[in-house]
Amino acid sequence: MAQGSRKRRFTQPRVVISRCIEFEPVRYDGGIIPSREVARLKPYIEFLPVCPEVEIGLGIPRETIRIVRTDGDDHLIQPSTGRDVTREMQTFCTRFLDGIPPVDGFILKNRSPTSGINGVRIYPSAQPSAPVAYGPGFFGGEVLRRYPGYPIEDEGRLRNHRILDHFLTRIYTLADYRLVEEAGTIDALVGFHSHNKLLLMAHNQTGYQELGRLVGSHTKQEESTDLIARYRLLLVPTIARAPTYAENINVMLHSVGRFKHQLKSEEKAVFLDALESYRAGTGTLAGPKNILKSWIARFGDEYLNEQTFFAPYPDALMEYPAEETERGRDLWADFRKAP
Ligand code: SF4
Repeated sequence: MAQGSRKRRFTQPRVVISRCIEFEPVRYDGGIIPSREVARLKPYIEFLPVCPEVEIGLGIPRETIRIVRTDGDDHLIQPSTGRDVTREMQTFCTRFLDGIPPVDGFILKNRSPTSGINGVRIYPSAQPSAPVAYGPGFFGGEVLRRYPGYPIEDEGRLRNHRILDHFLTRIYTLADYRLVEEAGTIDALVGFHSHNKLLLMAHNQTGYQELGRLVGSHTKQEESTDLIARYRLLLVPTIARAPTYAENINVMLHSVGRFKHQLKSEEKAVFLDALESYRAGTGTLAGPKNILKSWIARFGDEYLNEQTFFAPYPDALMEYPAEETERGRDLWADFRKAP
C-alpha cells in the first residue's frame, strides 16, 4: 500500500490471451474478434497474445480444423486436406506453456477447437456429422489441466459484469502474490495475508482460516520458499469462487463494527439501508462499500484502509452501465430537439 496517498498500489497482472481477440487478424478467415472488455483492459494488463494454429504453421487464412474422436482418442483434423495436426499442436502447447513466465490468468476464444475452454464440438469423423460430445479445445484443455482453479475465461463470458469483476479481482490478487514470491520472505507473506484478510474472508471462510493457520504455523526450520509455495496452492482455490451477497454483507458488517462507538445512530441506519438494498437486489455492492470507504477515510482506520476488499483492482476498471454513468449516448438529446 502507498503510505502518503492512501491509495492501493497495483501490480500489473500478466495474462495469456488468444491473439485473435482484439490483437491481430489471425482467425481462419483472416478476421479478428472485437472485445470491448479486452480493449479496455489493454493499458492495464501485460498481455501475452498467442495463436497456436498460426504457431504450428497453418497460415492465414486457412482451412478450418475440428476435433475428431476415434476409438476414445481426440485428434485435431483439417477435414478439407485430411491432415492430422494433433502431434504438432500437443508439442506446441507443451513448448509454449513450459516457456512462459508466471502468469495470473487466461482469456481464450470460446468454442475454438484449439483455444476453447469448454463447449467445443467433438465430432465422430472428419466428414459432415453431428457432434458426439463437447469439451475444451486442445490448447484450452492443456491450460485447464496445468492451471486448475486459475482465472481462465473466454471473451464471451467477460461481457458479464460480475464475471469480469471476479476475474479482475483474482488476477490482481495473484499478481500481488507474485511479488511475495519474488521477495521470498515471511514478512512479505505476512503483509500480503494481512492486507487480503477481508477479501479472502468474503470468498471462502474455510480457505481464509486455513491460510491464516498456514502463515501462523511458520517455524524457523521451515524454508520460507516452501511456505510461500504452499500458500499459493491454497490461495488459488480460496478465491476461485465469487463471494455471494451474504458473504459480502458479513464482511461489511464485520468492518462497520470498528466504528460502532463513533457513528451516530442515523448514520448507522443509512448504512444498514444501503446494505439491505444490496441484499434485496435493489442496490449494488458499491452502495454500502462506498459508505464504509468514506468512514475509513474520516476515522483514519489503518487496518481497513489497507484491505484489498475495498479496492480489489483499479477504479478505472470498475464498470457500470453507460445509462447510469452518463458516459453513453445523451438520452435526452432527442427530447430536447423535439419542437
Ligand atoms: S481461437 Fe486460438 S487458434 Fe483460433 S485464431 Fe484465435 S488464437 Fe488462433
